This record gives sequence, structure tokens and C-alpha cells, in this order.
Amino acid sequence: MDISVIGTGYVGLVTGACFASLGHSVICVDVDSERVDCINRGVPPIYETGLEEMLKEVLERKRLRATTDLEEAVEGSAVSFISVGTPSGLLGDIDLRYIEEVGRDIGRYLPERYHVVVMKSTVVPGTTEYSLIPLIESTSGKRAGRDFGVAMNPEFLREGSAIEDFLRPDRIVIGGIDERSTETVAGLYRDFEAPIMRTDPRTAEMIKYATNSFLATKISFINEIGNICKPLGIDAYEVARGLAMDSRVSPSFLRAGIGFGGSCFPKDVKAIVGKAKEVYYHPMVLNAALELNETQPLRLIKLAEDRVGSLRGRDVVVLGLAFKPGTDDMREAPSIKIINSLLKKGAVVHAADPVATGEARKIFGDRIGYYEDPREAVKKGEILLIVTEWDEFRDEGLYRGKMVFDGRKIEEARAADYYEGVCW
Ligand code: NAD
Repeated sequence: MDISVIGTGYVGLVTGACFASLGHSVICVDVDSERVDCINRGVPPIYETGLEEMLKEVLERKRLRATTDLEEAVEGSAVSFISVGTPSGLLGDIDLRYIEEVGRDIGRYLPERYHVVVMKSTVVPGTTEYSLIPLIESTSGKRAGRDFGVAMNPEFLREGSAIEDFLRPDRIVIGGIDERSTETVAGLYRDFEAPIMRTDPRTAEMIKYATNSFLATKISFINEIGNICKPLGIDAYEVARGLAMDSRVSPSFLRAGIGFGGSCFPKDVKAIVGKAKEVYYHPMVLNAALELNETQPLRLIKLAEDRVGSLRGRDVVVLGLAFKPGTDDMREAPSIKIINSLLKKGAVVHAADPVATGEARKIFGDRIGYYEDPREAVKKGEILLIVTEWDEFRDEGLYRGKMVFDGRKIEEARAADYYEGVCW
């Protein structure tokens, strides 16, 4: 099928490359011409495991190309996926400006023949029906359901394993406005092994928020258990192991540490809290999950200060910048809170990350030192904070003779002269 994918970030580019690798003909659209050039040269503008190889292959087979021309893309395709960003607004609620822009433009270029517009971006319940459809209808003069189809198909991929997650998801959720829309999208996933849940757009939108809110709450829950375990001399990981032996509790997302970050969990939980306010509901559990996550990263610094006293003028090595391993994404990374706090306290910060130093430079400029190789970074100081669990940090040699405060449970770090974990 001819597919256009609008927005070529983590979700859009992975969606485009994966559909192209499955034999579809894909045009990726972005307003950022540098991004488009990179993609056409086979250089992914983001780091994601396996993406470069896949992109090169689909370009070679002429299954994918990128453009800034939305008109050409929409006119030449049967299905358009919207995968532009939906960042937090000023009050933490969702900022729909990119969705609205794309909605209007798609309407302008909607072809005469049947075309299905698919919302893949994460949007609060009601957005597809009450924002997107009226915008497309107003600029196209056409009617949803009669002249064109619309569906909401949330994406559950995780950065760092995005391709694997896209191709082998636990489930596929499709919320179409009618059967024709739903079945057109379902056809694209025909060869996937995952079960397909068919529902309406609002429910599909809410399933995405329920999933992310549940997982974020699970992380804050285990961090809270960990914060209680620590002063009691209990290892929260042993507790989580025992907890997960209960068949009602899945073991994933039970790693206590310095909290969640990334482009999705913080913004999505805030967005659904904002949506709840619109219907006069005050979400207590979700607010608590967010509140705990605000301060959790700073516990690592408190541990260091309790041990060494003031950090003013001290060299501190931060191991890890990306919000998790396997990505260069720094959005809402716990490292940002930790480094900002260290700088405020007058520490001299040396940070190591195998892929995220470029992104980190955009945030910290020359206020900190950057190292891709952790062996170089650890030469700079005695106090080490482990912030991201990269495999590159699983090396006892990095820690010998050092004082380590671990936010991610790296066992090799126990080779340090002094070792302490944040929740163990
Ligand atoms: P991103 O910020 O990495 O990429 C968005 C892209 O859209 C950018 O390249 C931007 O230039 C482009 N864009 C903006 N306006 C445009 C326009 N008018 N026309 C064409 N392109 C435009 O975003 P992302 O992380 O890929 O997330 C996209 C959506 O998917 C968000 O709603 C997000 O919540 C959701 N999501 C993200 C993840 C994830 O792990 N990143 C996972 C699941 C769902």
C-alpha cells in the first residue's frame, strides 16, 4: 500500500522504515529539511538500534523516501499516519499545535479517492474526533466517514528497542470512526502476530494514556517501596523479586532507582491529569506518581552529600545522560535534574554517555565536560554517580578506587572502594 508518514521523529521514522521493510511504499514528510536530507542519505537523524541498517535497505530497494512536500505525499498515498510531536503545554497539559497544523494541511491536499488519516501521535481523548476531523473537514470541504476515513492507532514502542517493539508488539489498537477506516488500517498489520483490538478513537486514545500512566505509577510505586527499604537496610530489588513471583504482578517496571524520564511518561501523565481537570476530576494517584518522580533523582545527590559533605568545588563524574540506554534522547532525562542540581551546588561535572553527548551539549553547553568513553570520564574524579544503565558501564575497572552512588543497580560498581545504591 502507498503510505505517507507525517513527522519523522522516533515514532514516524520507525513506523515508516518498518512499513517499508514489510514491502509497503512509504513517503516520510517533515518540516525540518535537514532531517529529510539525512533520511534520504540513509543517516537517521536520531539514534535507534538497527534503524540505520533498516533505513539503508529500504532506500536501496526504493521503498522509502523523505520529503518536505506534504501535498505530494498525501496525494500519492492511500493512508497517512500523523506522528508529529504532542509536547506539554505551559500548564503541563497537551500542546496540540502541530496536530492542528497537520490536520489543516492534510485537508487541503486530501485526494479525490478514498484516503484514511491515522492518528499515531499520543493525543488526549477526544482529539481525533473533536479537533482533527473538524479541521480536515473545514479545509477539504469533505465529510469524514463518507469521503475519507479516520482512525486512531496509538504507538506503544519503547525508544532503544523501537524497531523490535513496532514489528512485534503485544497488541495493536485501532480506533476507527467506522468499519472501513478500521479495516483499512488493520490490513496494514495483517502479517503481524499480535492481536488487534478494534475500538472507537476515544477509547484508543485513552488506552495509550492508561498504559503510560500505569507504567509510570508502577515505577513511582517501586521507588517509594525502595525509599522505605533503604533506611531499613533492605534491598528493594530482592523485595521486587519476591513481589513479582506473585502471578498477579508482572516483573517489568519494578526496578527501583532514580525515576522515569523520556519524551512520553512525564508528558503523558501530565496531559491526562490536565484532561481530567477539564471534567472536574482531581487524579490523586497520578499526581502522586508525578510528585515522587520530581524528587527521586535528587536522592542520589543527597546520598553523596551525606557521605562526602559539600560538593562545592568537587569533581563529580556522571555516568549516563540519555534517559535510558539505547537512545540519545535527553527529553526529561533524570540526568538533567541531577546535573542542574550539581552545578547549583558548585560541583565540577564530567559526564559520560556513549551516544547522548551531542544532545546534552544543547542543554548544558560548556558548563560540563563530555566524554563518550566512560574510562576517560572516570579519570576526572573520585565521586561517581550512575544515572543510566548503559552496558558500557558494566565494567568493574571503572569503579576500582572510586566512591560510587548508584541510581540504576549496576552490579559491577560494587568493585568500588565505597558503594551505595539509591534504594538498596
Ligand atoms: P519527535 O519530536 O521525535 O518528532 C516529531 C517530528 O514531527 C519532528 O521531526 C518534527 O520536525 C515533525 N513535525 C512537526 N510539525 C510537523 C508538520 N507540520 N509536518 C511534518 N512534520 C512535522 O516526536 P516522537 O518522539 O516521534 O513522538 C511523536 C508522537 O508519538 C508524540 O505524540 C509522542 O507522544 C508519541 N509517542 C512517542 C514515543 C516515543 O518513544 N518517542 C512512543 C509512543 C508514542
